[in-house]
Amino acid sequence: MTFKELNLLPQILKALEGCGYKSPTPIQEKAIPRVLAGDDLIGLAQTGTGKTAAFVLPLLQRLTQRPRGRVRVLVIAPTRELAEQTHKTFGTLGRHVDFRSAAVYGGVGIGPQIQKLRKGAEVIVACPGRLLDHIERGTVDLRGVEALVLDEADRMFDMGFLPDIRKVMKNLPARRQTLLFSATMPTDIRKLAQEILQDPVTVQIDHETPAETISHALYPVERHFKTTFLMELLSRTKTESILVFTKTKHRAKKLAEQLQMAGYKAASLQGNLSQNKRQAALDGFRRGSFKILVATDIAARGIDVSRISHVINYDMPDSSEAYTHRIGRTGRACRTGEAYTLVTPEDAEMVAAIDRLLGRKTERRALQGLEYTVPEIGRVSPAPASRQAPSRGGYAARRSGNRQPQLRRRAGVN
Ligand code: AMP
Repeated sequence: MTFKELNLLPQILKALEGCGYKSPTPIQEKAIPRVLAGDDLIGLAQTGTGKTAAFVLPLLQRLTQRPRGRVRVLVIAPTRELAEQTHKTFGTLGRHVDFRSAAVYGGVGIGPQIQKLRKGAEVIVACPGRLLDHIERGTVDLRGVEALVLDEADRMFDMGFLPDIRKVMKNLPARRQTLLFSATMPTDIRKLAQEILQDPVTVQIDHETPAETISHALYPVERHFKTTFLMELLSRTKTESILVFTKTKHRAKKLAEQLQMAGYKAASLQGNLSQNKRQAALDGFRRGSFKILVATDIAARGIDVSRISHVINYDMPDSSEAYTHRIGRTGRACRTGEAYTLVTPEDAEMVAAIDRLLGRKTERRALQGLEYTVPEIGRVSPAPASRQAPSRGGYAARRSGNRQPQLRRRAGVN
């Protein structure tokens, strides 16, 4: 399919040509006709899929027709970087369309933003907090908004922006087009979507399989032994930059601290960080002053560090899509990468899903010379009663009464 077949206007096609975009990405192919038709839409897509242009292009097409001088398109984004990036995309793809846009986010002076808004903007790309500030000051009028975009909705939820978004919604006209983009659909986002979208169509791109340049290994380990095991694994592995994934923000923070204490240059990236700290962690990781970044799925969205040699799933991801997405951070551009996953007996179902995803039985590895119990993985049904341990999993360490196994090395192994 070509952009022309999507019925985009010549001035937009010209800008696309200038950008070197030859054909629409799958999310663009699916979303653009629906947005042009005026439908409400839920777009299940992550950064890197071309989701920004999927809403920017059809909304620019709307802006080719009058009126001017009032805010007609409002995009709400979780972070300043994303707001700035989207604002720039409007500029680049709309370079032959006559409109004005403003980026509105905190951490910078409000004065210049007020001046810009006073001069008139048809598009505003905003972060929720600063936008509310403008609403309260009366420096922005959203009564003429025709289209609202909530971008990276799951991340906005993770960052605690949902109450702010609900307040912003009260200042928008009820008759409008609403587009919601999210990589995942947690219950709260689903609820929000039901509240604010009308008969939405859902567009979704099929999940990809991981790149061939990545090798995958599963390390069966008892849950309470994971941190010690990870340290040992790191000490035995030659790595460049390492991205470690945990399930919760709390665990990401704690694990990064434990790694620091063990002498690793590590930082965490999770939703509880301030914008500045988040940026410092990302910059440090990019420069190499942090070798290990411990992150949650949502916080790690959009990380693109070319030297990531290893992705380590300290906690199992909750779907095969999430697995693909996590390990997509390594092995980029034909470099080789390694994906390690620590697996506990509770993860049997996800292990089966990873095997299905990769189309083979993923290699199971153990750390030779390290004295620990390798739990049996891959059996979803429980073991016969006579062989069952006191709790799930059947751990030999627990059976011997040793609840906190210590790292013990056999002589001669470092
Ligand atoms: P996004 O998912 O919106 O963050 O976009 C990811 C990257 O893909 C950006 O660098 C875009 O410039 C680029 N991009 C978006 N659409 C296309 C396209 N149709 N062809 C080539 N690159 C694209």
